[in-house]
Amino acid sequence: GYIYTRMDNPSRHGLEQVVGKLDGAKYSIAVSSGMAAVAVIAHLLKTGDHILVEENIYGGTYHYFNDFCKKMGTQISDADFTNPSEVIKKLCQNTKIVWLESPSNPYTRVIDINAVSKIIHDHNMSSKEKAIFVVDNSMMSPYFQRPLELGADIAMCAGTKYINGHSDVLIGFISMNRDDLHKELRKLQ
Ligand SMILES: *Cc1c(COP(=O)(O)O)cnc(C)c1O
Repeated sequence: GYIYTRMDNPSRHGLEQVVGKLDGAKYSIAVSSGMAAVAVIAHLLKTGDHILVEENIYGGTYHYFNDFCKKMGTQISDADFTNPSEVIKKLCQNTKIVWLESPSNPYTRVIDINAVSKIIHDHNMSSKEKAIFVVDNSMMSPYFQRPLELGADIAMCAGTKYINGHSDVLIGFISMNRDDLHKELRKLQ
């Protein structure tokens, strides 16, 4: 049942069910903002892990990784994901998270999500640390694009943006199919 409202409550549960359906996901987790979603996902990292981000991601996300995650001992690098050879070159044995946005905010750079997913899959066959592929879908919303169907492990979005019409709600969503990721992220929520 519902023991404590922050841990779970009927309203949030219902909302998560709906967003999960929109994303074509087994699970969806609602958090207090898009940046809260970024922070929760970043907690999957440990000291020594590497994050590879597309060079045109949201400023808040870039600063979160650079200012806070770096302080905790993670490495971060960026690449132009429109060029697959750049992604291959920058993937390391300790890459734990690969992060892109498509289209990106504010430059609307479009990335081939499925092509990047294949590169990460090939990389993961031979690397020690398996990279988790995260797509920030804030600009499209699950109505127009479903990153999980294109090979992402996690589809997050700022519900603050297009999914709600813009500027009258502050919320974030994290959708996934993997049981292991859901278990970890649910605790972090
Ligand atoms: C706005 C935005 C965020 C952060 O969302 P907030 O709800 O404002 O915290 C994250 N990613 C993208 C692409 C955004 O546009």
